Amino acid sequence: MLNSSFIQQRQSVTPANFDFHCHSIVSDGLLPPHEVARRAAANGVDLWALTDHDDMGGLAVARATAEEVGMNFVNGVEISIEWQGVPIHIVGLGFDAAHPALSGGLDELRLGRSERAKRMGEALADIGIPGVYEGAMCFVTNPSLISRAHFARYLVSIGIARDVPGVFQHYLTPGKPGYVDHRWATLAEAVGWINEAGGVAVVAHPGRYKMSGAQMRQFLGDFKDLGGQGIEVTCGSHSPDHVLHFARLARHFAFHASRGSDFHGPAESYVDLGKLPQLPEDLKPIWRLVR
Ligand code: AMP
Ligand code: MN
Ligand code: MN
Ligand code: MN
Repeated sequence: MLNSSFIQQRQSVTPANFDFHCHSIVSDGLLPPHEVARRAAANGVDLWALTDHDDMGGLAVARATAEEVGMNFVNGVEISIEWQGVPIHIVGLGFDAAHPALSGGLDELRLGRSERAKRMGEALADIGIPGVYEGAMCFVTNPSLISRAHFARYLVSIGIARDVPGVFQHYLTPGKPGYVDHRWATLAEAVGWINEAGGVAVVAHPGRYKMSGAQMRQFLGDFKDLGGQGIEVTCGSHSPDHVLHFARLARHFAFHASRGSDFHGPAESYVDLGKLPQLPEDLKPIWRLVR
């Protein structure tokens, strides 16, 4: 049962600038967690979550540094799932990072990443680009968390494409030669792990998924039925039209709204930490639900 002291622990002071989506070298970001924390604070973020892909290894340092610089912090993670064949990301916020359901689920997801990476190397060798797995490993900062971003950085370094988005476009997206299908977590698993660990599940950057309007509504209905509570409305990859569209869907599904830069590194991101528009004022901000 919720009692008043529990509610007191929820975020009580209205943050001026919350950013609940970004990465460090624990996944495919370019800065260590303490530097991401300091950069967030320097940019005016006053309530922050680090959300590395499928790994919670940066949270302790992130929290300690946030405390040092006087910034409020909540635990975060961005979980890779697949729903009806579409790769989707679910952000978890405010969970107990020691909960075995969540940590065990993420351990398994990371094992799958290593196998996928080897198959990506083989697929690229088949089209005449050898040694890419080994090359990408030189860009990997956490050996248990290999991302397509590391492949992209290596392929740029050997001149295969001019920049990271160019590599994705020609080699690393569905239908392209370096793309390898993979079984990620299910929607039910990701939302279940987050909720069991006492956290809140949020749909990451919904504007990036290749889905029809009807399919998106079906996905959001499934997400809600499984216990999902939030959706990113303002985020680094959303256009002003995306913001309006997903604000409408947030109202329709009675979701709380999140805001996150998806910062990966100074030279590689859509926007810097905290440097994005505020949420539409009538939406319920997700920070009200998280500790
Ligand atoms: P993975 O989790 O290994 O499938 O890799 C996904 C990561 O690659 C994302 O989190 C981004 O960091 C990066 N990424 C995906 N698509 C693109 C793109 N079109 N341009 C640049 N980076 C991308
Ligand atoms: Mn990433
Ligand atoms: Mn993502
Ligand atoms: Mn992300």
